[in-house]
Amino acid sequence: MALDSNAIISRFQDYLRINTVQPNPDYYAAAEFIKIQAQSISLKYKSIEFVLGKPLVLLEWTGSDPSLPAILLNSHVDVVAFEADKWDHPPLGAEIDEEGKIYARGTQDMKSVGMQYLEAIRKLVASGYQPRRSVYVSFVPDEEIGGADGVGKFVESGNFKSLNIGVVLDEGLPSPTESYRVFNGERIPWSLQIKAVGQPGHGSKLYDDSASENLTKSIESMMRFRASQFDMLKAGLKPDGEVVSVNMVFLKAGTPSPDGFVMNLQPSEAEAGFDIRIPPRPTDDHLVALEKRLEEEWAPVSRNMTYKLWRFDQNLSGKQLLTAKDDSNPWWGLLQNAVNEAGGKIGEPEIFPASTDSRYFRKAGLPAFGFSPISNTPSLLHDHNEVLIVSSAKYYILQESNVLTVSLFVQYLSQSEYLKGIDMYVSIIKAYTSYI
Ligand SMILES: [Zn+2]
Repeated sequence: MALDSNAIISRFQDYLRINTVQPNPDYYAAAEFIKIQAQSISLKYKSIEFVLGKPLVLLEWTGSDPSLPAILLNSHVDVVAFEADKWDHPPLGAEIDEEGKIYARGTQDMKSVGMQYLEAIRKLVASGYQPRRSVYVSFVPDEEIGGADGVGKFVESGNFKSLNIGVVLDEGLPSPTESYRVFNGERIPWSLQIKAVGQPGHGSKLYDDSASENLTKSIESMMRFRASQFDMLKAGLKPDGEVVSVNMVFLKAGTPSPDGFVMNLQPSEAEAGFDIRIPPRPTDDHLVALEKRLEEEWAPVSRNMTYKLWRFDQNLSGKQLLTAKDDSNPWWGLLQNAVNEAGGKIGEPEIFPASTDSRYFRKAGLPAFGFSPISNTPSLLHDHNEVLIVSSAKYYILQESNVLTVSLFVQYLSQSEYLKGIDMYVSIIKAYTSYI
């Protein structure tokens, strides 16, 4: 048994050590590795290059009734860049420390999940389990740079339509508590640029309606709105996916001079850009209200302001961007039960604060859940020292009591989140593939 887990962990290490770091991921090396894994558990392998140099690997475990809609287990192969000198262990080394933590880019986001799908299938195959529904496992490129050449092209393809997918599992976020997090939607991104024009004037002169004054009023108004949303988050009244985020990403004004800016001239133009993320809702009333606020308070014509707004999926309603979490969607109940049966806990579905490939699947009309079976772990996605507990280990933590001012060592036993996650997928794949 111990040997078994060693082999499981060493396969994970092998995958983590393949350099799939953006912007130059070695997708072919990853595809070759996945091919070997697929062969070892007798899954059908296909590599599709919608864009040359960016293979999407698709594995198939054929069910006994392929006429039933199939299950798709999706993971992206690429990972984000890192600053190696800020890490305690090399980011492509996959070293395991004495606490049982494995260090590598992709341990959480999301090479763990990709390998856990395969390890779960490996276990099921070994036990003689025969799925009724077919299972597809996709290893996709480019999620970290928007996914247009990966899942974006995949869902549009005839190839995808012929798979007859019924439900998709994709990445979620680690949970700092015992209970896993699950996501059924993502915030809708807006890109906004606002611009003010006004009379230029001497730097010494006080006058109304300068471009800088007009833009400043808008920025102040937006920052007040931002604070009202942030306050709810800080007070714990709402999770990060349920508030509107507004962040200024550029600010442009001033008249350039050879050594910087002309300091005694008020400019005739001033501009700012914002990243805005809005939770989807069953109706779009809140989007209409926000656009009204934009026209009346943030970029009003009365203050000589204009704006450009890029709305993601303008033609889709919030409802279409949400996966149902009630009785109308049997896959939610099945997921909940399967996790519980495997001894895990799962929270209510949340809105993912940023973007993942799930949005393409939901856009195609499919139910999709974002779920990474990582509990008791802080989220370190894109951070230095991205880690995951892979092996159970006893370790000691120094605890100080401020009452008696004594220090004591407390013994902790960490459980392998990685191995536990594999058992979750064993349970989920069984429940999903046997459902009729
Ligand atoms: Zn990810």
